[in-house]
Amino acid sequence: MLVYEGDFLKTVASKLMKEGCRVYAPSEIAYTEINHDSQISDVKPKKSVKEFLFPQNEVLIGYGDWIEKVPLNRERRAVVGVKPCDARAIKLLDRIFLEGFEDPYYRARRENTIIISSSCEPDAYCFCESFSSPFSEEGADIFVSRIDGISFVKAVSEKGKEVLKGFESDLRNPTDQEIEKFRNEEERVRGLFRRSVEAEIQEKMKEKFDSEIWKEIAIGCVGCGTCTFLCPTCFCFDMLDEGEKKGIRYRAWDSCQFPLYTLESSSHNPRREKWQRLRNRFYDKFLYMVESKGNVFCVGCGRCISECPAGVDIVEVLQEVSR
Ligand code: SF4
Ligand code: SF4
Repeated sequence: MLVYEGDFLKTVASKLMKEGCRVYAPSEIAYTEINHDSQISDVKPKKSVKEFLFPQNEVLIGYGDWIEKVPLNRERRAVVGVKPCDARAIKLLDRIFLEGFEDPYYRARRENTIIISSSCEPDAYCFCESFSSPFSEEGADIFVSRIDGISFVKAVSEKGKEVLKGFESDLRNPTDQEIEKFRNEEERVRGLFRRSVEAEIQEKMKEKFDSEIWKEIAIGCVGCGTCTFLCPTCFCFDMLDEGEKKGIRYRAWDSCQFPLYTLESSSHNPRREKWQRLRNRFYDKFLYMVESKGNVFCVGCGRCISECPAGVDIVEVLQEVSR
């Protein structure tokens, strides 16, 4: 960890913009493009950072007499002020798109997008502390923590080290007092969390699969899919063709909350009922992904709680399962 005297997020954003890199920063709705460092805010956007690597709609090929491959996205971009939960979610998405079969579209975007995360304070819905910390550097290329006018800066990846080479003369080692200040701030922020879940809940989930609680929880759910679309770790997509003899094949986000999601061509649907689909979201994140990938696929960002029109609250659901 190195120290920069001032707001490193602003300085690095300005430098990258001068170099012609497109820079994005948090705004109320999404991480949006900025053209001045004064536009960097600390809000948690409603939309996560995943669309920079895995867009909601993405053309994969064009077809006509033959298949034309679509050029991979090589645009150099930087997202600054990324929330640590969002950056950590990228690490989980890497496990899906880069392990085993490697997705070239995701790979190209991942290589050309610089993720600069920044430590933050929890809002009323956050519970990242249950899995990690708002000071986590996982998934970022550079991690920054701004405390009392100075910035603690760490290059996490090779890409991050490359960027920091341009700042060598401006970065120094922290003093003992500064290290203590950092630790105290971490401790202070940890004390601000009002929500938590039990991450080691897998055995209890197995016991509760046939419980009536799933029908009760699903009563208000309208099947809108907001919880999955806003989730930084949800990665399901559908493949669609547009055009008969000539057209495009693209992928689009899908949601396990939609009735068509598991509909088979025989017309059988293994998750015909809404409560079965809602149950699946919790089992996928807290059991199936742990069994297949070794990770809980939730980073505690709280978006599925704050934006659900029916008030379905993942923390309350997991507490009910734990009971
Ligand atoms: S956001 Fe809420 S209402 Fe919409 S599908 Fe998810 S749980 Fe159901
Ligand atoms: S499941 Fe909900 S709280 Fe967990 S990462 Fe997804 S949106 Fe955030």
